[in-house]
Amino acid sequence: MTMMLPLEDVDPTIFQLVQRETQRQEDGLELIASENFTSRAVMDAMGSPLTNKYAEGYPRKRYYGGCEVVDEVEQLAIDRALQLFGADHANVQPHAGSQANLTAYLAVLQPGERLMGMALTHGGHLTHGHKVNHSGIIFDSVQYGVDEATGLIDMGQVREMALRERPKLLIAGSSAYPRVIDFAAFADVAREIDAVFLVDMAHFAGLVAGGHYPTPVDHADIVTSTTHKTLRGPRGGFILCREEFTKAVDKSVFPGGQGGPLEHVIAAKAVGFGEALQPAFKEYGAQVIRNAQRLGEVLAENGYDLVSGGTDSHLILVDLRKKDFTGKDGEAALGRAGIHVNKNTVPGDPRSPFVTSGLRIGTPALTTRGMGEDEMSQIADFITRVLGSPDDETVEAVSAEVLELTEGFPLYTSSATT
Ligand SMILES: *Cc1c(COP(=O)(O)O)cnc(C)c1O
Repeated sequence: MTMMLPLEDVDPTIFQLVQRETQRQEDGLELIASENFTSRAVMDAMGSPLTNKYAEGYPRKRYYGGCEVVDEVEQLAIDRALQLFGADHANVQPHAGSQANLTAYLAVLQPGERLMGMALTHGGHLTHGHKVNHSGIIFDSVQYGVDEATGLIDMGQVREMALRERPKLLIAGSSAYPRVIDFAAFADVAREIDAVFLVDMAHFAGLVAGGHYPTPVDHADIVTSTTHKTLRGPRGGFILCREEFTKAVDKSVFPGGQGGPLEHVIAAKAVGFGEALQPAFKEYGAQVIRNAQRLGEVLAENGYDLVSGGTDSHLILVDLRKKDFTGKDGEAALGRAGIHVNKNTVPGDPRSPFVTSGLRIGTPALTTRGMGEDEMSQIADFITRVLGSPDDETVEAVSAEVLELTEGFPLYTSSATT
Protein backbone atom coordinates (compact mmCIF):
# COMPACT_ATOMS: atom_id res chain seq x y z
CA MET A 1 0.00 0.00 0.00
CA THR A 2 1.42 3.37 -1.00
CA MET A 3 -0.70 5.26 1.51
CA MET A 4 2.05 5.94 4.02
CA LEU A 5 4.77 6.79 1.50
CA PRO A 6 5.90 10.41 1.42
CA LEU A 7 5.11 12.73 -1.48
CA GLU A 8 8.71 12.53 -2.67
CA ASP A 9 8.24 8.81 -3.48
CA VAL A 10 4.62 8.83 -4.64
CA ASP A 11 4.69 11.85 -6.92
CA PRO A 12 8.20 13.16 -7.57
CA THR A 13 6.89 15.62 -10.16
CA ILE A 14 4.69 17.49 -7.70
CA PHE A 15 7.32 17.10 -4.98
CA GLN A 16 9.86 18.86 -7.21
CA LEU A 17 7.43 21.66 -7.94
CA VAL A 18 6.79 22.15 -4.22
CA GLN A 19 10.55 22.30 -3.67
CA ARG A 20 10.94 24.82 -6.49
CA GLU A 21 8.16 27.04 -5.18
CA THR A 22 9.60 26.91 -1.65
CA GLN A 23 12.98 27.96 -3.06
CA ARG A 24 11.34 30.74 -5.09
CA GLN A 25 9.73 32.09 -1.92
CA GLU A 26 13.04 31.75 -0.08
CA ASP A 27 15.09 33.61 -2.71
CA GLY A 28 12.76 36.49 -3.57
CA LEU A 29 11.63 39.67 -1.86
CA GLU A 30 7.91 39.13 -1.34
CA LEU A 31 6.21 42.52 -1.31
CA ILE A 32 2.75 41.52 -2.53
CA ALA A 33 0.56 43.19 0.09
CA SER A 34 -1.93 40.32 0.37
CA GLU A 35 0.71 37.64 0.94
CA ASN A 36 2.46 36.40 4.04
CA PHE A 37 4.46 33.40 5.27
CA THR A 38 2.53 31.16 7.60
CA SER A 39 4.20 29.11 10.30
CA ARG A 40 5.28 25.50 10.16
CA ALA A 41 2.71 24.83 12.92
CA VAL A 42 -0.13 26.20 10.76
CA MET A 43 1.02 24.07 7.81
CA ASP A 44 1.29 20.97 10.00
CA ALA A 45 -2.35 21.36 11.04
CA MET A 46 -3.39 21.91 7.39
CA GLY A 47 -1.51 18.85 6.20
CA SER A 48 -3.15 16.56 8.78
CA PRO A 49 -5.68 13.69 8.53
CA LEU A 50 -8.39 16.16 9.57
CA THR A 51 -8.72 16.68 5.82
CA ASN A 52 -10.55 13.31 5.72
CA LYS A 53 -13.45 14.28 7.95
CA TYR A 54 -16.93 15.28 6.80
CA ALA A 55 -18.60 17.54 9.34
CA GLU A 56 -21.52 19.35 7.69
CA GLY A 57 -23.23 21.47 10.31
CA TYR A 58 -21.71 23.15 13.37
CA PRO A 59 -20.08 21.89 16.58
CA ARG A 60 -22.51 19.56 18.43
CA LYS A 61 -25.07 19.93 15.58
CA ARG A 62 -23.62 17.84 12.75
CA TYR A 63 -25.09 15.77 9.97
CA TYR A 64 -22.34 13.13 10.31
CA GLY A 65 -21.12 10.87 13.11
CA GLY A 66 -17.59 10.82 14.46
CA CYS A 67 -17.37 14.58 14.82
CA GLU A 68 -16.47 14.69 18.52
CA VAL A 69 -12.83 15.60 17.86
CA VAL A 70 -13.39 18.12 15.07
CA ASP A 71 -16.13 19.67 17.23
CA GLU A 72 -13.44 20.55 19.75
CA VAL A 73 -11.17 21.84 17.00
CA GLU A 74 -13.83 24.09 15.48
CA GLN A 75 -15.00 25.33 18.88
CA LEU A 76 -11.42 26.31 19.73
CA ALA A 77 -11.11 28.21 16.44
CA ILE A 78 -14.37 30.05 17.22
CA ASP A 79 -13.36 30.83 20.82
CA ARG A 80 -9.96 32.13 19.78
CA ALA A 81 -11.45 34.29 16.99
CA LEU A 82 -13.82 35.81 19.55
CA GLN A 83 -11.02 36.34 22.06
CA LEU A 84 -8.93 38.03 19.36
CA PHE A 85 -11.61 40.33 17.95
CA GLY A 86 -14.26 40.54 20.67
CA ALA A 87 -17.38 39.96 18.53
CA ASP A 88 -20.67 38.33 19.61
CA HIS A 89 -20.39 35.45 17.15
CA ALA A 90 -17.86 33.87 14.79
CA ASN A 91 -18.28 31.51 11.84
CA VAL A 92 -14.90 30.01 10.87
CA GLN A 93 -16.12 27.84 7.97
CA PRO A 94 -15.89 30.10 4.89
CA HIS A 95 -13.37 28.54 2.52
CA ALA A 96 -11.90 31.92 1.57
CA GLY A 97 -12.51 35.66 1.77
CA SER A 98 -14.69 35.70 -1.35
CA GLN A 99 -16.97 32.96 0.06
CA ALA A 100 -17.18 34.85 3.36
CA ASN A 101 -18.38 37.93 1.49
CA LEU A 102 -20.94 36.31 -0.78
CA THR A 103 -22.45 34.24 2.04
CA ALA A 104 -22.55 37.28 4.33
CA TYR A 105 -24.34 39.31 1.64
CA LEU A 106 -26.87 36.53 1.10
CA ALA A 107 -27.48 36.41 4.87
CA VAL A 108 -28.98 39.91 4.73
CA LEU A 109 -29.96 40.59 1.09
CA GLN A 110 -32.28 39.01 -1.45
CA PRO A 111 -30.94 38.65 -5.02
CA GLY A 112 -31.58 41.90 -6.88
CA GLU A 113 -31.40 44.09 -3.78
CA ARG A 114 -28.91 46.93 -3.67
CA LEU A 115 -25.46 46.97 -2.09
CA MET A 116 -22.89 49.74 -2.10
CA GLY A 117 -19.16 49.02 -1.92
CA MET A 118 -15.86 50.57 -2.89
CA ALA A 119 -14.84 50.32 -6.55
CA LEU A 120 -11.97 47.97 -7.37
CA THR A 121 -10.19 50.70 -9.33
CA HIS A 122 -10.21 52.92 -6.23
CA GLY A 123 -8.85 50.29 -3.83
CA GLY A 124 -11.94 48.14 -3.17
CA HIS A 125 -12.27 44.43 -3.97
CA LEU A 126 -13.91 42.47 -6.81
CA THR A 127 -16.36 41.00 -4.29
CA HIS A 128 -17.62 44.44 -3.27
CA GLY A 129 -19.97 44.63 -6.23
CA HIS A 130 -17.79 44.60 -9.36
CA LYS A 131 -19.85 43.76 -12.44
CA VAL A 132 -17.83 40.63 -13.36
CA ASN A 133 -18.14 39.20 -9.83
CA HIS A 134 -21.18 37.36 -8.46
CA SER A 135 -21.57 40.25 -6.01
CA GLY A 136 -22.28 42.54 -8.96
CA ILE A 137 -24.28 39.98 -10.93
CA ILE A 138 -26.61 38.73 -8.19
CA PHE A 139 -27.11 42.12 -6.53
CA ASP A 140 -27.84 45.61 -7.78
CA SER A 141 -24.46 47.16 -7.11
CA VAL A 142 -23.50 50.81 -6.80
CA GLN A 143 -19.90 51.80 -6.13
CA TYR A 144 -18.16 54.67 -4.37
CA GLY A 145 -14.52 55.67 -4.74
CA VAL A 146 -11.96 57.94 -3.19
CA ASP A 147 -11.47 61.65 -3.82
CA GLU A 148 -9.07 61.57 -6.77
CA ALA A 149 -7.23 64.69 -5.64
CA THR A 150 -6.38 63.39 -2.16
CA GLY A 151 -6.63 59.61 -2.61
CA LEU A 152 -8.79 59.59 0.55
CA ILE A 153 -12.34 58.36 1.13
CA ASP A 154 -14.50 61.47 1.39
CA MET A 155 -17.26 60.59 3.87
CA GLY A 156 -19.34 63.52 2.61
CA GLN A 157 -19.38 61.98 -0.87
CA VAL A 158 -20.11 58.51 0.52
CA ARG A 159 -23.05 59.87 2.55
CA GLU A 160 -24.43 61.81 -0.41
CA MET A 161 -24.31 58.72 -2.63
CA ALA A 162 -25.84 56.52 0.08
CA LEU A 163 -28.73 58.95 0.58
CA ARG A 164 -29.32 59.03 -3.18
CA GLU A 165 -28.94 55.29 -3.86
CA ARG A 166 -30.41 53.90 -0.63
CA PRO A 167 -28.50 50.55 -0.60
CA LYS A 168 -29.70 47.90 1.85
CA LEU A 169 -26.09 46.91 2.53
CA LEU A 170 -23.16 49.30 2.91
CA ILE A 171 -19.67 47.79 2.61
CA ALA A 172 -16.40 49.29 3.85
CA GLY A 173 -12.99 47.68 3.48
CA SER A 174 -10.34 47.58 0.81
CA SER A 175 -7.45 45.83 -0.88
CA ALA A 176 -5.39 48.82 -1.87
CA TYR A 177 -6.23 51.71 0.47
CA PRO A 178 -3.20 52.69 2.55
CA ARG A 179 -5.06 54.74 5.14
CA VAL A 180 -7.31 54.11 8.13
CA ILE A 181 -11.02 53.85 7.30
CA ASP A 182 -13.45 55.79 9.52
CA PHE A 183 -15.76 52.93 10.55
CA ALA A 184 -17.78 55.14 12.93
CA ALA A 185 -18.61 57.55 10.09
CA PHE A 186 -19.66 54.65 7.82
CA ALA A 187 -21.84 53.24 10.61
CA ASP A 188 -23.56 56.64 10.96
CA VAL A 189 -24.34 56.69 7.23
CA ALA A 190 -25.66 53.10 7.35
CA ARG A 191 -27.89 53.98 10.31
CA GLU A 192 -29.22 57.06 8.54
CA ILE A 193 -30.47 54.99 5.59
CA ASP A 194 -31.34 51.93 7.67
CA ALA A 195 -28.79 49.74 5.86
CA VAL A 196 -26.83 46.81 7.22
CA PHE A 197 -23.18 47.80 7.67
CA LEU A 198 -20.51 45.26 6.72
CA VAL A 199 -16.75 45.68 7.02
CA ASP A 200 -14.41 43.44 5.03
CA MET A 201 -11.14 43.48 7.00
CA ALA A 202 -9.45 40.83 4.80
CA HIS A 203 -6.30 42.91 4.35
CA PHE A 204 -5.81 44.51 7.73
CA ALA A 205 -7.25 41.87 10.13
CA GLY A 206 -3.79 41.16 11.53
CA LEU A 207 -3.28 44.84 12.27
CA VAL A 208 -6.67 44.97 14.00
CA ALA A 209 -5.72 41.88 16.04
CA GLY A 210 -2.55 43.61 17.20
CA GLY A 211 -4.34 46.86 18.01
CA HIS A 212 -2.60 48.90 15.29
CA TYR A 213 -5.65 49.58 13.12
CA PRO A 214 -9.06 50.60 14.51
CA THR A 215 -11.35 47.64 15.05
CA PRO A 216 -14.49 47.54 12.90
CA VAL A 217 -16.17 45.14 15.33
CA ASP A 218 -17.69 47.90 17.49
CA HIS A 219 -19.26 49.61 14.47
CA ALA A 220 -20.23 46.95 11.94
CA ASP A 221 -23.17 44.54 11.98
CA ILE A 222 -21.07 41.97 10.13
CA VAL A 223 -17.30 41.71 9.65
CA THR A 224 -15.77 39.42 7.03
CA SER A 225 -12.12 38.52 6.66
CA THR A 226 -9.46 36.27 5.27
CA THR A 227 -7.06 34.44 7.60
CA HIS A 228 -3.99 34.45 5.36
CA LYS A 229 -3.05 38.09 4.77
CA THR A 230 -1.75 40.25 7.65
CA LEU A 231 -3.34 37.70 10.03
CA ARG A 232 -0.75 35.14 8.82
CA GLY A 233 -2.85 31.99 9.22
CA PRO A 234 -3.81 29.40 6.59
CA ARG A 235 -5.58 30.39 3.35
CA GLY A 236 -9.23 30.81 4.38
CA GLY A 237 -12.02 33.09 5.56
CA PHE A 238 -14.27 33.81 8.54
CA ILE A 239 -17.22 35.99 9.53
CA LEU A 240 -17.92 37.87 12.76
CA CYS A 241 -21.31 39.36 13.55
CA ARG A 242 -23.63 40.86 16.11
CA GLU A 243 -25.84 38.45 18.00
CA GLU A 244 -28.94 39.31 15.92
CA PHE A 245 -27.24 38.16 12.68
CA THR A 246 -25.94 34.85 14.08
CA LYS A 247 -28.67 32.60 12.69
CA ALA A 248 -28.78 34.26 9.29
CA VAL A 249 -24.99 34.14 8.86
CA ASP A 250 -24.66 30.52 9.97
CA LYS A 251 -27.53 29.40 7.70
CA SER A 252 -26.07 31.28 4.77
CA VAL A 253 -22.65 29.63 5.13
CA PHE A 254 -24.17 26.17 5.62
CA PRO A 255 -26.43 24.94 4.06
CA GLY A 256 -26.69 28.12 1.97
CA GLY A 257 -23.30 28.38 0.34
CA GLN A 258 -21.02 25.53 1.35
CA GLY A 259 -21.07 21.80 2.09
CA GLY A 260 -18.54 20.15 4.37
CA PRO A 261 -16.25 22.53 6.25
CA LEU A 262 -12.48 22.10 5.79
CA GLU A 263 -11.70 20.96 9.33
CA HIS A 264 -7.97 20.68 8.62
CA VAL A 265 -7.97 24.33 7.58
CA ILE A 266 -10.16 25.23 10.57
CA ALA A 267 -7.56 23.55 12.82
CA ALA A 268 -4.91 25.67 11.10
CA LYS A 269 -7.08 28.78 11.61
CA ALA A 270 -7.19 27.93 15.35
CA VAL A 271 -3.38 27.70 15.36
CA GLY A 272 -3.11 31.01 13.50
CA PHE A 273 -5.54 32.76 15.87
CA GLY A 274 -3.58 31.30 18.79
CA GLU A 275 -0.36 32.74 17.39
CA ALA A 276 -2.03 36.11 16.85
CA LEU A 277 -3.03 36.14 20.55
CA GLN A 278 0.65 36.03 21.59
CA PRO A 279 2.41 39.27 22.60
CA ALA A 280 4.95 38.75 19.77
CA PHE A 281 2.20 39.24 17.20
CA LYS A 282 1.50 42.73 18.53
CA GLU A 283 5.14 43.62 17.98
CA TYR A 284 4.94 42.06 14.52
CA GLY A 285 2.03 44.32 13.51
CA ALA A 286 3.79 47.45 14.75
CA GLN A 287 6.87 46.50 12.72
CA VAL A 288 4.77 45.81 9.59
CA ILE A 289 3.52 49.42 9.69
CA ARG A 290 6.92 50.95 10.52
CA ASN A 291 8.36 49.01 7.57
CA ALA A 292 5.66 50.22 5.15
CA GLN A 293 6.19 53.79 6.32
CA ARG A 294 9.96 53.57 5.85
CA LEU A 295 9.59 52.02 2.39
CA GLY A 296 7.21 54.84 1.43
CA GLU A 297 9.47 57.58 2.84
CA VAL A 298 12.53 56.42 0.93
CA LEU A 299 10.61 55.91 -2.32
CA ALA A 300 9.17 59.42 -1.94
CA GLU A 301 12.67 60.82 -1.35
CA ASN A 302 13.71 59.00 -4.52
CA GLY A 303 11.06 60.85 -6.51
CA TYR A 304 8.03 58.56 -6.41
CA ASP A 305 4.52 59.82 -5.68
CA LEU A 306 2.45 57.84 -3.19
CA VAL A 307 -1.34 57.80 -3.32
CA SER A 308 -2.54 59.78 -0.26
CA GLY A 309 1.09 60.75 0.39
CA GLY A 310 1.92 57.79 2.62
CA THR A 311 0.42 55.04 4.73
CA ASP A 312 -1.12 54.14 8.11
CA SER A 313 -1.08 50.44 7.31
CA HIS A 314 0.87 47.56 5.77
CA LEU A 315 0.87 48.85 2.19
CA ILE A 316 1.74 51.74 -0.04
CA LEU A 317 0.39 52.57 -3.47
CA VAL A 318 2.98 54.09 -5.80
CA ASP A 319 1.56 56.45 -8.42
CA LEU A 320 3.53 56.20 -11.67
CA ARG A 321 1.48 58.67 -13.71
CA LYS A 322 4.35 61.18 -13.81
CA LYS A 323 6.80 58.48 -14.94
CA ASP A 324 7.18 57.18 -18.47
CA PHE A 325 6.40 53.56 -17.64
CA THR A 326 3.33 51.61 -16.53
CA GLY A 327 2.48 49.45 -13.54
CA LYS A 328 2.71 46.43 -15.82
CA ASP A 329 6.26 47.33 -16.93
CA GLY A 330 7.29 48.08 -13.35
CA GLU A 331 5.95 44.77 -12.03
CA ALA A 332 7.75 42.84 -14.78
CA ALA A 333 11.10 44.61 -14.35
CA LEU A 334 11.07 44.20 -10.57
CA GLY A 335 10.03 40.55 -10.95
CA ARG A 336 13.12 39.88 -13.05
CA ALA A 337 15.21 41.16 -10.15
CA GLY A 338 13.39 38.89 -7.66
CA ILE A 339 11.31 41.71 -6.19
CA HIS A 340 7.65 40.74 -6.20
CA VAL A 341 5.01 43.49 -6.18
CA ASN A 342 1.80 43.85 -8.13
CA LYS A 343 0.56 46.38 -10.62
CA ASN A 344 -2.48 48.24 -9.38
CA THR A 345 -4.74 50.99 -10.67
CA VAL A 346 -4.45 54.32 -8.92
CA PRO A 347 -7.54 56.51 -8.35
CA GLY A 348 -8.41 58.16 -11.68
CA ASP A 349 -6.07 55.84 -13.57
CA PRO A 350 -6.15 56.53 -17.33
CA ARG A 351 -4.84 53.01 -18.04
CA SER A 352 -6.70 49.68 -17.99
CA PRO A 353 -6.49 47.27 -15.02
CA PHE A 354 -4.23 45.05 -17.16
CA VAL A 355 -1.71 47.85 -17.58
CA THR A 356 -2.30 50.36 -14.74
CA SER A 357 -0.28 53.33 -13.52
CA GLY A 358 0.51 52.06 -10.07
CA LEU A 359 2.32 49.52 -7.94
CA ARG A 360 0.98 48.13 -4.68
CA ILE A 361 3.74 47.28 -2.25
CA GLY A 362 3.21 45.62 1.15
CA THR A 363 5.40 44.60 4.06
CA PRO A 364 3.61 41.74 5.94
CA ALA A 365 5.65 38.93 4.37
CA LEU A 366 9.13 40.44 4.70
CA THR A 367 8.37 41.54 8.25
CA THR A 368 7.57 37.90 9.06
CA ARG A 369 11.05 37.04 7.76
CA GLY A 370 12.47 39.41 10.37
CA MET A 371 13.31 42.38 8.18
CA GLY A 372 13.15 45.90 9.64
CA GLU A 373 13.48 49.52 8.58
CA ASP A 374 17.13 49.27 7.49
CA GLU A 375 16.26 46.50 5.04
CA MET A 376 13.28 48.56 3.82
CA SER A 377 15.59 51.48 2.99
CA GLN A 378 17.81 49.10 1.09
CA ILE A 379 14.82 47.60 -0.79
CA ALA A 380 13.48 51.04 -1.69
CA ASP A 381 16.85 51.72 -3.30
CA PHE A 382 16.74 48.39 -5.18
CA ILE A 383 13.29 49.33 -6.51
CA THR A 384 14.48 52.78 -7.51
CA ARG A 385 17.47 51.38 -9.39
CA VAL A 386 15.44 48.80 -11.32
CA LEU A 387 12.60 51.17 -12.20
CA GLY A 388 15.09 53.90 -13.11
CA SER A 389 16.97 51.71 -15.63
CA PRO A 390 15.33 48.32 -16.20
CA ASP A 391 18.18 47.04 -18.41
CA ASP A 392 19.79 43.61 -18.04
CA GLU A 393 22.88 44.94 -16.33
CA THR A 394 20.98 46.72 -13.56
CA VAL A 395 18.52 43.86 -13.11
CA GLU A 396 21.37 41.36 -12.76
CA ALA A 397 23.25 43.52 -10.30
CA VAL A 398 20.16 44.05 -8.15
CA SER A 399 19.17 40.35 -8.31
CA ALA A 400 22.54 39.42 -6.81
CA GLU A 401 21.99 41.89 -3.96
CA VAL A 402 18.42 40.60 -3.45
CA LEU A 403 19.75 37.06 -3.08
CA GLU A 404 22.39 38.18 -0.63
CA LEU A 405 19.76 39.99 1.45
CA THR A 406 17.27 37.11 1.51
CA GLU A 407 19.98 34.63 2.49
CA GLY A 408 20.42 36.60 5.69
CA PHE A 409 16.73 35.98 6.58
CA PRO A 410 16.11 32.25 6.10
CA LEU A 411 12.46 31.25 5.87
CA TYR A 412 11.66 27.54 5.76
CA THR A 413 14.99 25.98 4.74
CA SER A 414 16.52 26.30 8.20
CA SER A 415 13.87 23.86 9.49
CA ALA A 416 14.31 21.60 6.40
CA THR A 417 11.40 20.94 4.06
CA THR A 418 10.44 17.29 4.02
C1 LIG B 1 -8.26 39.21 -0.55
C2 LIG B 1 -9.56 39.86 -0.34
C3 LIG B 1 -10.76 39.13 -0.45
C4 LIG B 1 -10.83 37.73 -1.02
O1 LIG B 1 -10.17 36.76 -0.37
P1 LIG B 1 -9.87 35.36 -1.12
O2 LIG B 1 -9.43 34.51 0.02
O3 LIG B 1 -8.82 35.64 -2.13
O4 LIG B 1 -11.14 34.90 -1.73
C5 LIG B 1 -11.94 39.76 -0.13
N1 LIG B 1 -11.96 41.04 0.27
C6 LIG B 1 -10.83 41.79 0.35
C7 LIG B 1 -10.92 43.20 0.79
C8 LIG B 1 -9.61 41.22 0.03
O5 LIG B 1 -8.51 41.97 0.09
